[in-house]
Amino acid sequence: DAEADNGRVAIVGGGLAGSLLALSLARQGVGVDVYERRPDPRLGGDAGGRSINLGLSKRGIQALTEVGLIDEVMPLSVTMRGRVIHSPDGGTRFQPYGKNGGEVLHSIDRNELNRLLLDHAQRHPQVRLHFDHRLAHVDKDRRELELESNGERVRVRPSWVVGADGAFSRARQEMQRGERADFQQEYLEWGYKELSLSALPDGGSQIELEALHVWPRLHGLFVSHPNRDGSHTLTLFLPFEGPDSFATTTGEAEVKALFDKYFPDLVPLLPNLVDDWMSHPTGSLTTIRTGRWHRDDWIVLVGDACHAVYPFYGQGMNSAFEDCSALMAALARHGQNRAAAFAAYEQSRRPHTDTLAELSKANFVELKQKVKSPWFVARKRLDVALNRFLPKTWLPLYTMIAHTTIPYGDALARAHRQERFLAGSAVGLAGAIGVGAWLWLA
Ligand code: FAD
Repeated sequence: DAEADNGRVAIVGGGLAGSLLALSLARQGVGVDVYERRPDPRLGGDAGGRSINLGLSKRGIQALTEVGLIDEVMPLSVTMRGRVIHSPDGGTRFQPYGKNGGEVLHSIDRNELNRLLLDHAQRHPQVRLHFDHRLAHVDKDRRELELESNGERVRVRPSWVVGADGAFSRARQEMQRGERADFQQEYLEWGYKELSLSALPDGGSQIELEALHVWPRLHGLFVSHPNRDGSHTLTLFLPFEGPDSFATTTGEAEVKALFDKYFPDLVPLLPNLVDDWMSHPTGSLTTIRTGRWHRDDWIVLVGDACHAVYPFYGQGMNSAFEDCSALMAALARHGQNRAAAFAAYEQSRRPHTDTLAELSKANFVELKQKVKSPWFVARKRLDVALNRFLPKTWLPLYTMIAHTTIPYGDALARAHRQERFLAGSAVGLAGAIGVGAWLWLA
C-alpha cells in the first residue's frame, strides 16, 4: 500500500533543477522528498564518466541568489571573459562576451554544483533525499508514484509531484500517457565526446584560462571550458556518421588522422588523446518541445524534462534554474490554487523556452561556421560598440540571453526590432548620401 506523504512534495530527479527546487520549496516550509535514480553522487566518483562543465550565466545566477547560494557557488567557478577562436593555422582571436567585466560567464563543474546543491538540500530539515529510487510508474487517478529501489517496488502518495528527471523524463511520459499532449523530439546528427586538456605541472593553463575556447571547423567543433586547477574540459562535436565521423573514428590511427586533419594545433597539447578518446562515451544531443507541462494541480515539469535544448547557447541549466524561480513565483502568486499556478507557470515559460530551442540550434551554426567570418566579427563589434554608446537602448541578442533575465522570446523580438532599425538607418544613410551627391552634382 502507498505511504501517504501528508503535505509533502515529491521531486523526481535530484539533478540540477530537482536539487535547487527542493531547496526553494523547503525554504518556504514545504516538506520535500527527492527521488533520484542514481546513487548519491557525493559518495562515489562522477557518474557515467562525464564531467561536463557548464557555463553559468545571469539567469542561473539569479536563481542561485534567490536561495542564498551564489556566494558558495562562485568560488567553484572560473570566469570566462569571452571566446578565443582557434583557426586551423594555429592563430587565435579573442571575442569578449560583453562590454565590461560584469558581462562574463562562469565555468562550473556540473557534478560539483550538483553535490553542493544536494548538500544544502540534505542539511535542510524539510528535505529527505532518496537515492537509487527510479520512478517506474505514475498512477494519475490514485495520485501515486511507483518507484523501483534495489529491485523492490515502493509506492508513495505525495501531495503533489515535480518531474525534474531530465530530457528522457519518465515523469513526463507517464503524465502525458493517454492525454492530448504535444511532443516533439529531434536529434542532432552530430554527437559529442569529452576529452581533457591537462594543466601544466605548476598548475598553470596551457591555453588562456579565463575564456571559452572554440575550434570551429565545418566538419567538427571543439569547445573547451576551464577548470580551477588549470585544466580544461574539451567537448568535441562531430557528425555521428559519414566520412571523418564518430562511426569511422574507432581506432588509434583514425583518431590521430582526424586530429592531424582538423585540429593539428591541439595534437601537441593532448598527449593522452587516444586513451582519452577510447575511454569516453559518445553522447547524443536532443531538442524536446512538449506540452502540457502539468496535469491538474498534481504534477508539473521543470528543466530538461519539459524543454531540452542543444547546448550551443549554454542555456540548458540556466533556463532549468529559471523555471524553478518561475514556478516558485507562480505558486506564491496563486496561493492555494495550485492548478492555476501550474498553468500560469507553463504559460509564462513555454513560448520562451521554445524560442530558446531555436536560438540554441542557430548558435550551432554560429559556433561552427560564423565565428570565423570577418562579416560576423565586424557585426559583433558593431553590436558591442552600439551597446557601449547606447547601453539602455541597444542590447545585443547574446547580451540579453546571457547577461539579463529578459524572457527569451522578448529578447529575440527586441533583437529583430534593433536589426530592422539598423537596416532602416543604413538604407536612410545611403539614401541621404545619394540625394546629397545628386544635389551637389546637379
Ligand atoms: P538533469 O541534470 O539531466 O537531471 C535529471 C536527473 O533526474 C538526473 O540526476 C537523473 O539521474 C534523474 N532521473 C532520470 N530519470 C529518473 C527516474 N526515472 N527516476 C528518478 N530519477 C531520474 N547548460 C547550461 O546552462 N550551460 C552550459 O554551458 C551547458 N552545456 C552543456 C553541454 C553539454 C554537452 C550538454 C549535454 C548539456 C549542457 N547544458 C548546459 C545543459 C544542462 O546540462 C541541462 O540543461 C541541465 O542539466 C538540465 O537540468 P535538469 O535538472 O533538468 O536535468
